[in-house]
Amino acid sequence: MALSIGIVGLPNVGKSTLFNALSAAGAQAANYPFCTIEPNVGVVPVPDDRLDQLSALIKPLKKIPTSLEFVDIAGLVRGASKGEGLGNQFLGNIRQVNAVLHVLRCFEDDNVTHVEGGVNPVRDRDVVDTELCLKDLETVEKRRERSLKNTKMGGKAGDEAKAEVALLDRIKAKLDEGITVRAQKLTDDEKAAIQDLFLLTDKPVLYVANISEGQIGKEDSDPRVQQVREMAAKEGAGVVVLAAALESEIQQLAEADRPGFLADSGLTEPGLNKVVREGYKLLGLWTYFTVGEQECRAWTIHKGFKAPQAAGVIHSDFERGFIKAEVFGWTDLVKLGSEAAVKEKGLLRVEGKEYVVQDGDCMHFRFNV
Ligand code: GDP
Repeated sequence: MALSIGIVGLPNVGKSTLFNALSAAGAQAANYPFCTIEPNVGVVPVPDDRLDQLSALIKPLKKIPTSLEFVDIAGLVRGASKGEGLGNQFLGNIRQVNAVLHVLRCFEDDNVTHVEGGVNPVRDRDVVDTELCLKDLETVEKRRERSLKNTKMGGKAGDEAKAEVALLDRIKAKLDEGITVRAQKLTDDEKAAIQDLFLLTDKPVLYVANISEGQIGKEDSDPRVQQVREMAAKEGAGVVVLAAALESEIQQLAEADRPGFLADSGLTEPGLNKVVREGYKLLGLWTYFTVGEQECRAWTIHKGFKAPQAAGVIHSDFERGFIKAEVFGWTDLVKLGSEAAVKEKGLLRVEGKEYVVQDGDCMHFRFNV
């Protein structure tokens, strides 16, 4: 399941710096089945304390985290929807990702030019959103023309086309006011009707407030960080505050040197961990584990996956030939110390095809192909 998060923002806000730090984190993850596809795509392990605890207990030969893909999407400037900068290429790249990480510059640095003239994260957000809204308007208008022709058809098809035109008109009117599709609170049916348009402003968003090293520890009183938080709260979006340049330095250090460096910088963990975890949440993803002496491994599922679908993430044969699953909670294993003890306490369940896998389940699958 290759799910990806696109990193967007105006030039010189720290996108590439953040992307490079994320890529470095991915490149260093031991035992990771690695695939660097293109220079602007990085596969990053998802930090998971539960997997760490399970592995500390079982001491497997391999510990394999699950992962997320990040895409560095360069080229957005004012006017991109009209082809300025990398214009259309940028917009094509963003269409393909599942969620958006919007980097906002909150750091001052006279040596780093600001394309809009000065540091103002909320204005920057508006510039980017405006371009995305304009592009969505174009997409919606094109579809509306087609639907309008279809209204001339009789019967059910004609009725459906009329309903679609009405929906598109409503979306268009809001986009005209600069209201993103995600903020338009469409019903599930309405969302389904426009799903195949892959509208840019419909994708879930997470903001990164990129601060300088000197601002660390003072985030709560930093006016720019506050502005970003207030703006994000209004739209129900998350914010991760970090110093991208520092994150990049942390990734250059040997593993053993990091805790001291983090402490000196006033951090308890790399900000990247938060970005990856929040990104994972944003995509509505859950994790289950397979545990054994060979390997302890985390697997990604969507919320609501039933046991056979979850098994299919490992291999399609597991899904096709699914018979049953043995399931127990990761906390039970860590608390009781062994699978035998979990069984003895009656905490290992046998579940069938209808079982909805829960976040943090440990699973063994029985299958037959
Ligand atoms: P992009 O155009 O958004 O990809 O921006 P880059 O990541 O290339 O960064 C632009 C410039 O800003 C580079 O010179 C970075 O070193 C610098 N930069 C990025 N993040 C920070 C930061 O947190 N603090 C400072 N002072 N400079 C940063």
